[in-house]
Amino acid sequence: MKYHIIVFGCQMNIADAERVSAVLESMKYTQTANINEADLVAVVMCSVRKSAVDRVFGIVEKFKEIKKKNHGLKTILTGCVIKKDKKIFLNLFDYVIDIKDIKNISKLLGNCGSSRKSGPQTDNYLDITPKHSSKFSATVPIMTGCNNFCSYCVVPYAREREISRSSSKIISEIKNLVKNNYREIWLLGQNVNSYKDGKTSFPALLKIINNIPGNFWIRFTSSHPKDFNSDVIEAMAKCEKITPYLNLPIQSGDNKILELMNRHYTVQEYKNKIKELRKKIPDICLSTDIIVGFPGETKKQFNNTVQLFKDTKYDMAYINKYSPRFGTAAAKLKDDVTWDEKKRREKVLNETLKQTALENNKKYIGKIVEVLIDSKKDGRLFGKTKEYKTIEINNDKYQIGEIIKAKITEALAWSLRGKIIK
Ligand code: SF4
Repeated sequence: MKYHIIVFGCQMNIADAERVSAVLESMKYTQTANINEADLVAVVMCSVRKSAVDRVFGIVEKFKEIKKKNHGLKTILTGCVIKKDKKIFLNLFDYVIDIKDIKNISKLLGNCGSSRKSGPQTDNYLDITPKHSSKFSATVPIMTGCNNFCSYCVVPYAREREISRSSSKIISEIKNLVKNNYREIWLLGQNVNSYKDGKTSFPALLKIINNIPGNFWIRFTSSHPKDFNSDVIEAMAKCEKITPYLNLPIQSGDNKILELMNRHYTVQEYKNKIKELRKKIPDICLSTDIIVGFPGETKKQFNNTVQLFKDTKYDMAYINKYSPRFGTAAAKLKDDVTWDEKKRREKVLNETLKQTALENNKKYIGKIVEVLIDSKKDGRLFGKTKEYKTIEINNDKYQIGEIIKAKITEALAWSLRGKIIK
């Protein structure tokens, strides 16, 4: 029996998909990259943007075609699914299952479709040993869910409240990965800063992981500026395995918009945290997430975001044009910024970012950096530096998954070029 898996969305969804694969393979399914030869197709969906939901509807159309030739094909939907969509998708998929209940897939398939309801949740699905999609970089979810209810976001409705994993299970999973030569460990969660297992807070967890012997890098995402504090900064500064890279999503550079977004921090508070971070870790690279065209965002308020970009000098930013999501508080507000104006604001921010990113990258010329090689093509190596910068090297003697040293010879806005240091 063969399964095909389709994943949409963020690293958390990829981590979920690795657990879905593990459960299916424990049932003796083998993975196929060809959807047409699959007996089972599992879709791990994302609900964050409407476009992601629309793509699932697109796939359903494809299923109809395949089922004409392959009558036995079973389809499963899981991942980030909100209640309203669940009702619709129950008519389009053979099974819709809560990601927390994926251990019950075998029971569902055993019932051959007689039940569309998933069984009771046993224990934390994140403790399922995943089938990692990479041999050198692994994601390790430490918590899931969110208590924050940012007004534009569906995650608290799709993933419900925060649940942290047991620190002992996280540590043993990472020890095992390090033993198997994994070089990069991404700690994942919707809000990693609010991780709590008894007395173990997020900074305490970082320190424990840092003490695991071995040559590996620690990265983490996502952080919420209201919970990102001096203790995390201190842990980042002291732990040599934590890479000097941080994504700290501000979403807007205007206090009124931040209030409407229900973010619980001001621009000044955010800037103070960046200042403290840069004081303790001068070589830190910084990225952020932004929503342009939030309901009611005036040109003046948008210009505050442009100013923030100029002041903060980001290395990277993930800029999204606002679109309302059903069920969120912001969906009740008038979506009054036109799509063209949203596109214009996105472009303006991208241009500002391009300048600061290039200026930042130029400072690397002549420096020696560590690089984790993640791909090879046409006699060239590609990878990421510790600072999470993309780098290209004219050499293909090294293997994917190796950490090498390179001297930076050229800086572009979105990447670096370098040569190997013997
Ligand atoms: S912190 Fe806000 S944006 Fe992030 S998952 Fe929670 S509600 Fe969504």
